[in-house]
Amino acid sequence: MKKVHNFSAGPGILPQSALDNSISAIQNFAGLDLSLLEISHRSKEYVAVMDEARKLPLEILGLDDSYECIYLQGGASLQFCMIPFNFLNNRAGYLKTGTWASNAVKEAGFFGETVTVASSEDKNFTYIPKDYVIPSGLDYFHYTSNNTIYGTQMKSIPECDAPLICDMSSDIFSKRIDASKFDMIYAGAQKNMGPAGATLVIIKKEMLEKISKKVPSMLDYRVHSKKESMFNTPPVFSVYCALQVLKWIQSVGLEEMERRNFAKQELLYNEIDTNEFFVGNTAVEDRSWMNATFVMKDDSMTDKFLSMCKDANISGIKGHRSAGGFRASMYNALPLESVQALVDVMKNFKP
Ligand SMILES: *Cc1c(COP(=O)(O)O)cnc(C)c1O
Repeated sequence: MKKVHNFSAGPGILPQSALDNSISAIQNFAGLDLSLLEISHRSKEYVAVMDEARKLPLEILGLDDSYECIYLQGGASLQFCMIPFNFLNNRAGYLKTGTWASNAVKEAGFFGETVTVASSEDKNFTYIPKDYVIPSGLDYFHYTSNNTIYGTQMKSIPECDAPLICDMSSDIFSKRIDASKFDMIYAGAQKNMGPAGATLVIIKKEMLEKISKKVPSMLDYRVHSKKESMFNTPPVFSVYCALQVLKWIQSVGLEEMERRNFAKQELLYNEIDTNEFFVGNTAVEDRSWMNATFVMKDDSMTDKFLSMCKDANISGIKGHRSAGGFRASMYNALPLESVQALVDVMKNFKP
């Protein structure tokens, strides 16, 4: 087990096997006596990496070949712009559940009309809006499955007749989902599936046929699809490392991943709810399994707790600057033992 308990919100913890394999490929890739970083992305050895990295997400999610994967750069943030650039003709609907969701609405505004179908901004994004009606006639409906900063998570997939697009940057592959309900899923790799630099787009091929606009090549999904994520030089290292993470996820399986993630969040939230010094930030029914946000009832004790965490080799626990307090990010690769270490510090806290 790792010596430091890494609760970083992103870039986040990766499985050791992915790090080991990546280090070894940097030194000697595919037995070529060359580094992964110093050979052509068009070599057959690297093309094989990209092919597998494009195949595995579909296998893991149980999607058939009516979908495909594309690897892009620019992070999830560039998707906030590419989605409307490609798909917004008249009106698009957005669910505003946090900072990233708000950024997505803002960027879409450069391309056309957006409808904020529901928002939780009135209570600083500490809950997920419910009982909203998604209007008909939208070009697409966009939402964020996990609100990384404030610590809420969608517990069900919204029903709508428009194409459904989801930013799963911080909870992709963390539990079983019915992925076939989505027309597009995307994720910046650096939270739950790899290092920064690669963005995974899983898209229904039908969606590509719907694009009716003129889009510059680098921002056109059709171009990247046709060129099999090799239109220009892909982020070779990020995709390689993400592939190692994908292999690990596949070997664990989503059912087991879900069981592990359930156990981790249950352990931590139980402590938050029973410990006299702490309180959770978010609506209980909307709590994120990935990012638990909480504060001390008496804020003057915050620094003392942070320094106790540091002494216990717990890293990355300080809350986001817009939410304050603490945020424990429990991504797939974080072991239960790390959550237990945090809970032990909470139990031992004395003012
Ligand atoms: C981190 C994050 C983003 C931004 O990702 P970048 O890759 O840095 O652009 C977008 N959405 C969600 C849900 C995130 O957690």
